[in-house]
Amino acid sequence: RAVVAAEAEGDERAVEAALRPRRLDDVIGQDRVREQLSLVLQAALGRDRAPDHVLLSGPPGLGKTTLAMIIAAEMGSPLRLTSGPAITHAGDLAAILSGMNDNDVLFVDEIHRMSRPAEEMLYMAMEDFRVDVVIGKGPGATAIPLEIPPFTLVGATTRAGLLPGPLRDRFGFTAHLEFYEPAELDLIVRRSAGLLGVELTDDGAAEIASRSRGTPRIANRLLRRVRDYAQVRADGVVSLDIAHRALDLYEVDRLGLDRLDRAVIDALCRRFGGGPVGLSTLAVAVGEERETVEEVAEPFLVRSGFLARTSRGRVATPAAWEHLGLRAPAGSPF
Ligand code: ADP
Repeated sequence: RAVVAAEAEGDERAVEAALRPRRLDDVIGQDRVREQLSLVLQAALGRDRAPDHVLLSGPPGLGKTTLAMIIAAEMGSPLRLTSGPAITHAGDLAAILSGMNDNDVLFVDEIHRMSRPAEEMLYMAMEDFRVDVVIGKGPGATAIPLEIPPFTLVGATTRAGLLPGPLRDRFGFTAHLEFYEPAELDLIVRRSAGLLGVELTDDGAAEIASRSRGTPRIANRLLRRVRDYAQVRADGVVSLDIAHRALDLYEVDRLGLDRLDRAVIDALCRRFGGGPVGLSTLAVAVGEERETVEEVAEPFLVRSGFLARTSRGRVATPAAWEHLGLRAPAGSPF
């Protein structure tokens, strides 16, 4: 019912939230992570203690926030949400931590973007459930120790490699989320269609799944766009033909590459002769932030075999040239 209400209000974010699985058993795919996490949580419940801190890494849209919410739900604890960029001062973090209760779950999205002083405060909080709040400046500054209740930190990052060692080491459980297989995305699309009341054929579901870039968030989004198309231009049923036409209209290609993905390989091949080219140069060429190219576009391009990261820079593979309908020049790095 929440889904229908959110839809009625046309609120895409609310729809996305309503499509989230609520319990570990409802999560599709990520079998290993699910099993590992389930053990961590069951053991903590058995001991009646807050579970160890959890670090989730992986590209956007693979389920990090969803898992954080599930951890809290499975523990029967409230979840507090914040993000690295929102914590600019150590004081921001101290305020959040001091407002927590026993066994709360604190979710920090984009934890690699936290400021240095906040990060250092977090080390201590994670390890000793205590922080030092510094009052005043210069020689007269004093540190006042503040006890905080035992809590579980769930950190999410698109780049585990960017976390400083001491922070990474304080997580008792680290999981890397991988892109989903088409069969898993197929199940996700069907589940979401059920919740949204969308009628879809087997081949329609499979088509959306195979063009979803290995990403549940994209699968759900494409399902809604194809549903719109089916509703306006046809009889409302998401069939293979409707899925093809809608996805072509939204410029999602047969392999799931979107505009940014294509812009990256296009620049790499046409402007830089296939590379190697540095990340910053490539980002400027496609008019995007370096981080967006690196954290959003590249993981999928690498996994699809279109782009390779080498010590000298980014390189297009023969598959990339072929995908663009171009011929790789003689003497290209491959
Ligand atoms: P992240 O935090 O990694 O960016 P989210 O947890 O916000 O990703 O997930 C994005 C969307 O994808 C959510 O709305 C959720 O409905 C869906 N989703 C993610 N993982 C799964 C999964 N394993 N099974 C079903 N749906 C999922």
